[in-house]
Amino acid sequence: MDFATPADLSPIPQAEAPRECPLCPRLVAFREQCRAEHPSWWNAPVPAFGDPQAWLAIVGLAPGKHGANRTGRPFTGDFAGELLYATLAKYGLSEGIYRAERGDGLQLTGAIILNAVKCLPPANKPEPGEIANCRTFLQASLAALPNVRVIVALGQIAHVAASRALGLKPGATKFAHGAEHFAADGRVLLSSYHCSRYNQNTRRLDAVMFESVFARALRVGRQAELEE
Ligand code: SF4
Repeated sequence: MDFATPADLSPIPQAEAPRECPLCPRLVAFREQCRAEHPSWWNAPVPAFGDPQAWLAIVGLAPGKHGANRTGRPFTGDFAGELLYATLAKYGLSEGIYRAERGDGLQLTGAIILNAVKCLPPANKPEPGEIANCRTFLQASLAALPNVRVIVALGQIAHVAASRALGLKPGATKFAHGAEHFAADGRVLLSSYHCSRYNQNTRRLDAVMFESVFARALRVGRQAELEE
């Protein structure tokens, strides 16, 4: 594993956190612990992955310990990535074959993946202050993606973070699977249950439900293109 900076790997380097981002002391301490335990892993803020000209942005929660935190690419090596990358392929939003490693040659076309929180949180649970800190980078990412018309938020935390980043009041944008909200600049926020192992194992979310959100995103994106 090389130790490039997040910006080196990102399609939007100007929006990335530094490798040693100090803003969340609890996450910095956990990052150091992981580096000591797994020195060959990425163990740093995970950069965006995808197309800098994307019309669709997907916002996840945070890196998984053995997935994105290990590989340095969002959802890559995570259980949740299997369904997400399969869905992106099904809807023509990727080229190549996903092999759960950063060097698999996969490319996204028209889509980009961001995270509400870029560093691994203990027990997959970021604290409110950490989500607020990392919103700086989420906002910068969305600002660096002028062609994005549709944002798919995966799970309630990503939904709230994306709502705030888009200038929507979270109280006015209730989270629900398939919920749809409009930002003042015309961007559309679609929300989905997170494709986590827990949600899939408990059948809160299945592939058909997940795909329906992306099918809707494509319709909304095409409509926005026609109206431009
Ligand atoms: S979660 Fe975001 S804001 Fe917090 S330390 Fe990591 S990159 Fe910085």
